Amino acid sequence: MEKIHPILTPGLIAPCGMNCALCQAFQRSRKKCPGCWGDSPDKSKFCQSCIIRNCPTNRDNASHFCYECEDMPCKRLKQLDTRYRTKYGMSMIENLIEIRDKGMDAFLAHQSEKYTCSTCQGLLCVHRSRCLTCNP
Ligand SMILES: [Zn+2]
Repeated sequence: MEKIHPILTPGLIAPCGMNCALCQAFQRSRKKCPGCWGDSPDKSKFCQSCIIRNCPTNRDNASHFCYECEDMPCKRLKQLDTRYRTKYGMSMIENLIEIRDKGMDAFLAHQSEKYTCSTCQGLLCVHRSRCLTCNP
């Protein structure tokens, strides 16, 4: 069994495939967002009003992930995926397919390998090129 970083859990994976543990809003110490599934006034307006987070199809499907949806990738998911691939070098759609095909544990192990800082063993942030623990 590969090692999974202790902060990485299935509960922090959003329906769109975003790993909230890697988000700047989750990693910051003040006004910390609890992740897509949590409710908090500290969650950004952008995420509170997210069409995918509030999508009734996702609420009704068993896994709550977009990969179960027959419309995947919908327009909104495609937009988000393009933005993240271009700006941050990660793909929500790739994440979703990995979770669907390899399982959550394998996905988290892979995320762990990819996003653990080799200097401090903290989690890297997808929105920043530098480790926020080493370079706050
Ligand atoms: Zn670090």
